[in-house]
Amino acid sequence: MTLRERDEAVFFHTYARLPLEFDRGSGMHLWTRGGEPYLDMFSGVAVNALGHAHPEVVRAIARQAERFIHVSNYYLQESQIALAELLVKHSGYPRVFFANTGTESFEGALKIARKWGSVRGKRQLLAMSNAFHGRTMGALSLMDRPKYREGFGPFLANCEVVEFNNPAALTGAVSSDTAAVIVEFIQGEGGIRPVSADFAATLRHLQQHNDFLIIADEVQSGLGRTGKFFAFDHFGIRPDVVVLAKPIGGGLPLGAILGSDRVADVLQPGTHGTTFGGNPVACAAGVAVVTAIAERGLMNNARDMGILLRDGLASLQSAFPAHVREVRGLGLMAGMELASEGEPVVEAMRKRRILINCTDRTVLRFLPPLIVQKEHIQETVAALRDSLKDVFPAA
Ligand code: PLP
Repeated sequence: MTLRERDEAVFFHTYARLPLEFDRGSGMHLWTRGGEPYLDMFSGVAVNALGHAHPEVVRAIARQAERFIHVSNYYLQESQIALAELLVKHSGYPRVFFANTGTESFEGALKIARKWGSVRGKRQLLAMSNAFHGRTMGALSLMDRPKYREGFGPFLANCEVVEFNNPAALTGAVSSDTAAVIVEFIQGEGGIRPVSADFAATLRHLQQHNDFLIIADEVQSGLGRTGKFFAFDHFGIRPDVVVLAKPIGGGLPLGAILGSDRVADVLQPGTHGTTFGGNPVACAAGVAVVTAIAERGLMNNARDMGILLRDGLASLQSAFPAHVREVRGLGLMAGMELASEGEPVVEAMRKRRILINCTDRTVLRFLPPLIVQKEHIQETVAALRDSLKDVFPAA
């Protein structure tokens, strides 16, 4: 039996696996068992911010694993505290809760909003169309796309979705019953779509005149990927609750909720918790990751390389005007919207040994590690030019 047949024989069929098996990784590259190198411009969905097998991440994991791997949240843990202190220092948020994944962190943020709202008589949670917040029932209750929701209802009550980037819809939906407004300031799975300046201004205005929380889902966009610590930093908004995951554990499962003073006392002993959340090995890796991002210039690299990447993509838009609709993004979260399905182009890139993906059917998505350099961007843009030529020979 091939590996693929074995995979299909045992798993629920939730993933459309690619016919690729990697043996090892280092920096910007992954190698197959046969020794073929692939340039990784996808980072395992925005997880490997420092690339593969970063020596400081590997060392931090090994050191902590040799001491202990798990003791539970009944006890004080140095690596957890060190990572929380780093997050407080660089975010300015005074409170941290560690979970394991993005969706689980998002779920905790919803609980904070519900509890905060419960003592103020506010029940409504308001989210945006086309968003992605994960796969739990709470997350699905705040998403509108049938491909994620169909067949999984009934969903949570008092959850509403308004049209993304529609200031009037947002204004019309907010009321004295609104406990929280939930936003990805740049939608990831939804096709690399940043909030518009108008929408951000409306949200800021509503926040000043109403008593609700803003929850920022920064699972994909947070921790430097957009060239700033958070995506919302581009829009002059200060949310009350921030949800993080993906890159924070250096590839190990880890998520976090950050909270402002307004919600600092919402959770009390016994009201929320987890067995594995804040695992000490993942947190030790996290210290290496957040230090590199916040204190060693990686955010500036994300900004500069992001400009180079989008410039390169824009030049391809000019070269293939009938096939490329738009280039969007912030920092190293970049998208190229095609006029047709993106998967054939992703496959053509894979044949050239460059890993990207397609989201929202027509959007080529680039999420390289934040250590990416000019030569990797140039290689990617050149390969994309050839791939577009392959897929659209008449262009
Ligand atoms: N929120 C956003 C913005 C995401 O992009 C994702 C995952 O892609 C999630 C939440 C869910 O995270 P996880 O897959 O770790 O549960």
